[in-house]
Amino acid sequence: MRITKTFAETRTATAGRVGLVPTMGFLHEGHLSLIEAARDGSDTVVMSLFVNPLQFDRDSDLAKYPKDLERDVDLAAAAGADIVFAPEADEMYPGEQLTRVNVNRLSDEMEGPNRPGHFEGVATVVAKLLAGIQPDRSYFGRKDAQQLAIVRRMVSDLSFPGEVLGVPIVREAEGLALSSRNIFLSVEERAAALTLSRGLLAAGDLAEAGERDAGRLIAAVLVEIGTAPDISLEYVTLASQELVQPLDELDRPAFLAVAAWSGGTRLIDNVHFDGDEAGFVADRGSRLKTKSILYGGEG
Ligand code: AMP
Repeated sequence: MRITKTFAETRTATAGRVGLVPTMGFLHEGHLSLIEAARDGSDTVVMSLFVNPLQFDRDSDLAKYPKDLERDVDLAAAAGADIVFAPEADEMYPGEQLTRVNVNRLSDEMEGPNRPGHFEGVATVVAKLLAGIQPDRSYFGRKDAQQLAIVRRMVSDLSFPGEVLGVPIVREAEGLALSSRNIFLSVEERAAALTLSRGLLAAGDLAEAGERDAGRLIAAVLVEIGTAPDISLEYVTLASQELVQPLDELDRPAFLAVAAWSGGTRLIDNVHFDGDEAGFVADRGSRLKTKSILYGGEG
């Protein structure tokens, strides 16, 4: 396993079909599942580790984002990465980044208005990674459903070569979607946070049983979240996978997504619905059987 710091060095170190897994580090099993997916279809797997200042809408969030390069390198190597590309900010942004990528319409709802500038930062850094590393395939988690839709659209609209693949959510044993930010949750905040996945999974059951009405699917999530006294909800929305357009009816591939604060930690989660009007399957992701490596154990 090699650690690279520049785009040029990274390109020289790759051979055959290249799979790219972009991350901001502090790895957990969700990230490792992306490496495993990339391993399957690639000769060289590159994991990028870069906490991208451009996509943070709150300086405090950027300042406290957890970092541990040594830990990440060991985990990425064990999961099958060939290269960890860990650039300094100067390599990624050698001068002022005047060119920005905006994917219109897909950024208008949900995370967009709640996190001004976030998707511009994401699309810009992903465009730079795709241009700089030139992967055949890049892998993104369904956890960040709107981000995945935006990256797909950007790649298509800007004619980037290569394919974008979405990978199911990995959840902690109790259902909470894995996120590097979960380490900030207190015991009480964690208990409250579990209502998000519980509600989404209940809505998943309803949709598979034939419920198509967005209001009733959303209500199933709200009922669960309502049982937690300390959750501050930002949104629960059913949106199309292609355009992230809010839907009244589940009538095309879609995802039901929630964003909420538990204490000082902002959490997002979703369930994707794949299929067509003949029937939809809820992608509930997978659950760990043991405690996540996020919490310092062996997993
Ligand atoms: P991040 O480091 O949070 O920017 O995430 C890097 C990539 O990992 C993104 O494509 C995320 O969608 C993906 N990811 C994060 N958490 C999970 C999870 N629990 N399951 C699957 N993919 C995830």
